[in-house]
Amino acid sequence: MVSDEDLAAGVRAGDSRALARALTAVENRGPEARRLVAELYPRTGNAAVWGLTGPPGVGKSTLADAIASCALRSGRKVAILAIDPSSPVTGGAFLGDRVRMEASNRNPEIFIRSMATRGHVGGLAAAAFEAITLLDAAGKDLILVETVGVGQDEVEVAAAVGLTLVVLAPGLGDELQANKAGLLEIADLLVVNKADRDGADRLADELASANRDAVRSPAIVSTIATSGEGVDRLFQVAVELAAVPEKSSEVRRKRFVEGWLEEVLRQIVREKVPERVWKDAVDRVVSRSSDPFAAAELVLASIGGKKRQ
Ligand code: GDP
Repeated sequence: MVSDEDLAAGVRAGDSRALARALTAVENRGPEARRLVAELYPRTGNAAVWGLTGPPGVGKSTLADAIASCALRSGRKVAILAIDPSSPVTGGAFLGDRVRMEASNRNPEIFIRSMATRGHVGGLAAAAFEAITLLDAAGKDLILVETVGVGQDEVEVAAAVGLTLVVLAPGLGDELQANKAGLLEIADLLVVNKADRDGADRLADELASANRDAVRSPAIVSTIATSGEGVDRLFQVAVELAAVPEKSSEVRRKRFVEGWLEEVLRQIVREKVPERVWKDAVDRVVSRSSDPFAAAELVLASIGGKKRQ
């Protein structure tokens, strides 16, 4: 058994095995993770955190690898965190590349980890931020957080990162159209990847004209992640953007922390409630012998919260 203190010390020393264990604890959402984060959080806030999001298949993983290599060459310590929003319904891995990604851990100097969270939806952003805390504590200078742009999750995760790169590619058709509006809203930087493919110029033009109508106009950079073309420039633009503190970032940060605290509170309360009290409350609401509010009051009373009159 490794104690929490030893594990925290291992993380702080930048030990990859300790880091991997600590990340598993975060993934499992247990009390161990909470103690670790509590121990490590006060001395974090030093890493640059960039999110990469976009529809499946646009080249996010390939691009994350390429950006990481770039950052490594510039002397930074880098980690890639792939967040897998496996749904509580399917329980399955959303990122089909989960296994491939770990197998592609070619460069031992780049710490790569994919992470799945099951269960509560709001827990995804909390888990992501706790993982970022661990990577930051381990001395990483740049943390790339990869999410699949398909819904609300990556919007939440975007709030946890300093800079959001939305990755698009030509030839995605209707699915892209459906998702694009939401994705464009969270973008600090738009990447047109697969610039070697037909339609890439058209996509870049389309995004530029959408920019003209928008309040915010994120920079647009074209890349070919597979050959590395354009990636140096992308890296430079991102570094410059990240260096300029945006007015909205403070607001965004506070909103995120509020959500994180709410999630932590939910977890703590849920864990304190005895299982039989929980089951009883659920049964009461199902059978309509209690309304959900009265049942929640009962649950709170069971852990010492005063029942309101
Ligand atoms: P993700 O699902 O967004 O992470 O996409 P991947 O990084 O797994 O890439 C999906 C596929 O697109 C892979 O076969 C990549 O080799 C390929 N790919 C990635 N970037 C490029 C690019 O710039 N040009 C071309 N032609 N293919 C690319």
